[in-house]
Amino acid sequence: MGQYLKNAYNTKVTPQTAKIPGSTQVQNNAGGYAWAVDDWQRLKRFLILGSEGGTYYASEQKLTQENTEAVARCITTNGARTVKEIVAISDAGRAPKNDPALLALAMCASSVDQDTRMYAWNALPKVARIGTHLLHFVSYMETMRGWGRMAKNGVGRWYNYMPAEKLAYQAIKYQSRDAWAQRDLLRLSHPKPIDTTHDAIYHWLVKGTDGQTLASEPPTDKALTLLWAFEQAKVAVDSKTIVKLITDYNLPREAIPTVWLKEKDVWAALLVDMPLTAMIRNLATMTRVELLAPFADATSKVIAELTNQDKLTKARVHPVVLLNALKTYQQGHGDKSSHTWAPVAQIVDALDKAFYLSFGNITPTNKRYMLALDVSGSMGMGQIAGMSLNPREASAAMAMVTVYTESQYMTVAFQNNLTPLTITPRMRLDSIINTIDNLPFGGTDCAQPMLYALKNKLPIDVFCVYTDSETWAGAIHPVQALQEYRRKMGVDAKLVVVGMTSGGFSIADPNDKGMLDVMGFDTATPEMLSMFVRGEI
Ligand code: CA
Repeated sequence: MGQYLKNAYNTKVTPQTAKIPGSTQVQNNAGGYAWAVDDWQRLKRFLILGSEGGTYYASEQKLTQENTEAVARCITTNGARTVKEIVAISDAGRAPKNDPALLALAMCASSVDQDTRMYAWNALPKVARIGTHLLHFVSYMETMRGWGRMAKNGVGRWYNYMPAEKLAYQAIKYQSRDAWAQRDLLRLSHPKPIDTTHDAIYHWLVKGTDGQTLASEPPTDKALTLLWAFEQAKVAVDSKTIVKLITDYNLPREAIPTVWLKEKDVWAALLVDMPLTAMIRNLATMTRVELLAPFADATSKVIAELTNQDKLTKARVHPVVLLNALKTYQQGHGDKSSHTWAPVAQIVDALDKAFYLSFGNITPTNKRYMLALDVSGSMGMGQIAGMSLNPREASAAMAMVTVYTESQYMTVAFQNNLTPLTITPRMRLDSIINTIDNLPFGGTDCAQPMLYALKNKLPIDVFCVYTDSETWAGAIHPVQALQEYRRKMGVDAKLVVVGMTSGGFSIADPNDKGMLDVMGFDTATPEMLSMFVRGEI
């Protein structure tokens, strides 16, 4: 009898290298067992986390292939719903990068189903909101389909629907990306201009000034003035002229010849109406040319804008972008270039604050949280949305959002054992990331948080586990450890799994209403988590 106890149909304690008997678990990449996330969830993971840099277990190419296969299955199941999901995530700025959405939309636009193609082309302006998006979209589309009538009409409509002034701005800002220039798109789609201004912009995009001498006075049409000012900037011989062109016509940085971008005055003029995303991208440069310096007016302006939640939301500034900017800016040198600068401390702090603001308002739940970061080996590999952040560092930042919102929490790091962390809302994100970077790597046992709480009789309402769900190194499955914790502690604890890669697994049992699978770095995640804990979803 005794010998059967170990190998019997034991649903309460199963080693992670075996499937929980009777469950729908599948084998993960690490050889352990977890649940496969469904294709719709996988679509969301891909749209938000992308596949750049791959993961510890899958190369970028393999991960992209797995993800696009899931997207293809979604399209076959329900093309309209797929387009809807893509638009929802892209338009709300929930993803750090728009490329996965553009790729997925290009797949829909190339579908064998005519309705799906039509939905996709109609949605194009909502997903490809600026010139560079359109150029990326077309380079993806070209690998899947030709320039049929729908493609021509779809791209042509994109140009015609955009108001003239906005289009002129796009035209000077994003002339070409990848192998594509706007000129090529206009030649191929050949839209019939809706008015004379559009006609003139198309003409300029395709033929430039067409050998004609530039008029000394600007045209009366505001949209065309921008093109005129752009041409003037090309031939300017001093920075005073450049500054005047920027001030009078609001030329963006992309319209300024590189030679002038070393001048402080030029940057001062650009900063006046600089879009927030451009400001974040150029903090280091503006510090290098000494426009941003301690006590400077420009510094106060930048800090005020970075900490304006309304502006952050309107500009769809994503927390990952801010985190990446914070990490790069505070180190005082580029990752790839030899440029150096003296970071202004108050700007670093403003970026730190902006990170939290960019998630929008989050409702505190006043529950007791254990925030558990998977710091095992696999979490140290790969990138979040192609930025210089690995899932391990990113999970720490994500956990901080809850630390910032809630009052009752403890943070721990685990691999095949567990280390309590001392993290407080007053710590800056870069120092927290350093703390995490210095922890040792090990095997993965996602049951550790629940086992630790049980052993130490900690009353926990919500376990938040930040992981890639590639668990394998434990004697009991995480969900079984949770069930044991619930039984022995008499607390109906919930488990939230925050997925930090776009891989296909989750340790959350989809059939347990007390478990939720969400995505790291979806801007909607913190409030979704709060709603789940409050019992609203
Ligand atoms: Ca691992």
